[in-house]
Amino acid sequence: MKRDYYEILCVERHASQEEIKKAYRKLALKYHPDRNPDNKEAEDKFKEAAEAYDVLRDPEKRKLYDLHGHAGVEGAGFRGFSGTEDVFSSFSDLFEDFFGFSTGQRRSRRNGPEAGSDLRYDLTISFKEAALGAEKEIDIVRYENCSVCNGTGAAEGSEIITCPTCNGAGQVIRTEGFFRVSSICPRCSGEGTVMTEPCRSCAGHGRVQERRRVKVHIPAGVDTGSRLRLRNEGEAGRRGGPRGDLFIVIHVEPHEFFQRRGNDILNSEMISMAEAALGCTITVPTIDGEAEINIPAGTQNGDSITLKGRGFPDIRGGGNGNQVVFMKVMVPENLTERQKELLKEFADIEKEKKEGGFFRKLFKKAAGHGSEHARHDVS
Ligand SMILES: [Zn+2]
Ligand SMILES: [Zn+2]
Repeated sequence: MKRDYYEILCVERHASQEEIKKAYRKLALKYHPDRNPDNKEAEDKFKEAAEAYDVLRDPEKRKLYDLHGHAGVEGAGFRGFSGTEDVFSSFSDLFEDFFGFSTGQRRSRRNGPEAGSDLRYDLTISFKEAALGAEKEIDIVRYENCSVCNGTGAAEGSEIITCPTCNGAGQVIRTEGFFRVSSICPRCSGEGTVMTEPCRSCAGHGRVQERRRVKVHIPAGVDTGSRLRLRNEGEAGRRGGPRGDLFIVIHVEPHEFFQRRGNDILNSEMISMAEAALGCTITVPTIDGEAEINIPAGTQNGDSITLKGRGFPDIRGGGNGNQVVFMKVMVPENLTERQKELLKEFADIEKEKKEGGFFRKLFKKAAGHGSEHARHDVS
């Protein structure tokens, strides 16, 4: 029997996205596997909360759940999480937010094999890739387990024996005056064991540096500074220790004519003075093609037209931004004689209109209702 998602997160049925996220954060911290090692109940709670959050943070899934309960979201193909690793990989961005960059070190244990280091890779992508998402391949150099000795560091036939210097304690104790100072055993580096003959391929380290190609899925909507976490794509651990993670830090190149403001895309279009005055239809570039927009008569320099939903998708699932097109009204240069003539005529009419208005006001003041006639005369 599945529990109610709202009950799991301890929130009201009309809770806002912010409240739901906060509630989930609290539970994720409480039942985090690091805080509850080998605790099956905490693990179940951790998964349960993740599932509830995954549904309630998504407006579509939440609607289905509100209407039809668990059957509604299952009917839409939602299956929940198979394990904690699954939660971590699905929510990697979110957990970054919650717990910060240092969580990659969470698996290093004091007395166990040393975890591999996390790696950082700075990836530059185009503006368009940031908006539409992309699949990338990157080459990184990282420590891999030595294939000759399978990461043990020992040559074939070599034995792994208890370190004779520290008798397996991993620490040595010296006496300095009145003090007893313990330090990591220099012979076994604190591991407590040494091999009688080190692997020749990796000089006993158990790891070698290798170049690897890694596929990176860039979700649509990322921005400069976004960090993607690829679990277990960092360096191999020592002597069978867990792998580190790979963090991809995104840098977005500026676009030739688009700019980004939040999730909106901004650009400017030039239109002529006549087009601005009379109105027209123009074709503008969008991030994935083109769109036709109608410019109303009387458009002023700096006015904007909004193309709904043509901006960046929200990386946290909040719907798309817009494209905002700003109008730049161009004053014509290098006029032909005919154009000058027409513009002069235009200016004369404008002047008459203006003075007409001016005299009309004067007449109105002087003659009261009788001004009606005067207006027709001048305009
Ligand atoms: Zn080796
Ligand atoms: Zn030792």
